[in-house]
Amino acid sequence: LEKVPSDIEIAMAQTPKPIAELAHELGLHPDEVELYGKYKAKVELSVLKRLEHRKDGKYIIISGITPTPLGEGKSTTTIGLAQALGAHLGRPAFACVRQPSQGPTFGIKGGAAGGGYSQVIPMDEFNLHLTGDIHAVTAANNLLAAALDARMFHEATQSDKALYSRLVPTQKGKREFAPLMFKRLQKLGINKTDPNELTPEEINRFARLDVDPDTITWNRVLDTNDRFLRKITIGQAPTEKGHERVTGFDIAVASECMAVLALTTSLEDMRERLGNMVVATSKRGEPITADDLGVGGALAVLMKDAIKPNLMQTLEGTPVFVHAGPFANIAHGNSSILADRVALKLAGTEEGDSPDRVGYVLTEGGFGADMGMEKFCNIKCRVSGLTPDATVIVATTRALKMHGGGPDVTPGKPLADTYTKEDLVTLREGCKNLAKHIENSRKFGVKVIVAINQFASDTEAELQLVREQALAAGADAAVVSNHWAEGGAGARALAEAVIAVCESPSNFRFLYDLNLPIEKKIEIISKEIYGADGIELSEQAQKQIETYTSQGYGNLPICMAKTQYSFSHDPKLKGVPTGFTIPIRSVRLSAGAGFLYPLLGDMQTMPGLGTRPGFWEVGLDPESGKVVGLF
Ligand code: ADP
Repeated sequence: LEKVPSDIEIAMAQTPKPIAELAHELGLHPDEVELYGKYKAKVELSVLKRLEHRKDGKYIIISGITPTPLGEGKSTTTIGLAQALGAHLGRPAFACVRQPSQGPTFGIKGGAAGGGYSQVIPMDEFNLHLTGDIHAVTAANNLLAAALDARMFHEATQSDKALYSRLVPTQKGKREFAPLMFKRLQKLGINKTDPNELTPEEINRFARLDVDPDTITWNRVLDTNDRFLRKITIGQAPTEKGHERVTGFDIAVASECMAVLALTTSLEDMRERLGNMVVATSKRGEPITADDLGVGGALAVLMKDAIKPNLMQTLEGTPVFVHAGPFANIAHGNSSILADRVALKLAGTEEGDSPDRVGYVLTEGGFGADMGMEKFCNIKCRVSGLTPDATVIVATTRALKMHGGGPDVTPGKPLADTYTKEDLVTLREGCKNLAKHIENSRKFGVKVIVAINQFASDTEAELQLVREQALAAGADAAVVSNHWAEGGAGARALAEAVIAVCESPSNFRFLYDLNLPIEKKIEIISKEIYGADGIELSEQAQKQIETYTSQGYGNLPICMAKTQYSFSHDPKLKGVPTGFTIPIRSVRLSAGAGFLYPLLGDMQTMPGLGTRPGFWEVGLDPESGKVVGLF
């Protein structure tokens, strides 16, 4: 085999076509495209209205087996498959992927633009900043955090009267409510429009949010793996008069604002969701929202451009939408509904079109199918109303061998012999992990295509074994794909299998009914998808479930925050673990995004940096000014 150059070398060697040219090829009108430099553009949501009459293209969710820390090539396969469908089989084909976080990019995993000859380009722009959407999310999240702490401070240091007269000041001899205040008045059942008519008791309830500090769930965020911000004390300057509080930072992509961006269906809907985000409970027991703090409109303004999907391209010039970037372990792990919708319309057909014209939208759900795909089906599809035609489950012999008893795979360390030489015994044992993911996917009534992402060291016999095991476990197709080394040409067989499998309809269904009690929904996912015996709720989790149920949030779907390295909550349990109980440490509410998220085991919402992070390799070539060392 010829040596494949590094990801960044391949990416830099290819000159992308101007993005305006690609947009034109896709049939986008010039006024629907907003250029961000030469190779990136945002697409206006108005295109959805213009193409409303089209029948959607085929919708495929790309998922995977339980990965090693190196990643098993889901992004690479998404891009390779899109290149095969688009550039080799002449089908409209869109890859929809998440925007990477700087956390993993500079941490252990590197970028997420794919790899080898299946990448999104320019890969440095893709991996860093893009069009600023994560920065917008960070700004919105932190404005809300600042609004909350400032409000608590003012409430603690002022009388009802003083507070009210500052909130509703007399301007030009008149006192008037800000438009957003009517929402709060309504919530409190105060039917008055003249601020002068409120009774002292009503003034107290209106002006005092009376946040119970122990119930605050809103953290600040940053897009950096900064473990020292996990727990901090704020308000230590003398100007805050002793109003100190212990809080913490999460990684930006775990912010509810990011989940809102990924799950929203329109500008109006985004505004509504941002305003409904709950930050704490008041001492009276009511949920305190962003709109109670008066900041929902401002948050929407900060995110008004972020809502438009970003158009980029693959190495072979086919379209890619990059939009939203929630992690799949601590968030719901799927790119945006809006990008998928735009892509499905652009890939769609009009009356009279031949069936061959139908296009394909490949959307990626992060980590294993127990994470990204479960959340895709139970959360994303519920909001979007879209249903997948098939799923592609990406598998590598490397990860399968690890599940079959192979030693740990550690970034930066050489691979053990079992991974570089033929080892059919370990591989066969590890295929049980793949079989469980196939079985799980079938619980959603979705067709399954297994993509075996070929590595240079894989042997014929090994690839054949995985194929056989996948088919025996009920996959509709299982295909070896060599897109990393060969680009789209290497994924031709996989693309043909996807087309063939999508010919007959899927029979999609949800795993649980939203009206079940919160605890029951968590238990169904734990038992059915993870294979657990049951769940164990901490006292705190129990209390939170009671609070959320009484506040009317009991019927939301569940977004499990769990390690990606095992079906269980324990990253050390490989393969298909049995005989375990899932500990639920706490349950958090994302009222705006529209889900509840239980934290399993000791899952962290702010990752840390290792001793030798990826940033050691990253730099600029002083002559060309080009980025080097990103992978
Ligand atoms: P995932 O999306 O599953 O996390 P990625 O597609 O990001 O995985 O791939 C992880 C890393 O593995 C990338 O650096 C990519 O270049 C590399 N990789 C993927 N497939 C192959 C392959 N077939 N051979 C060699 N390296 C690969």
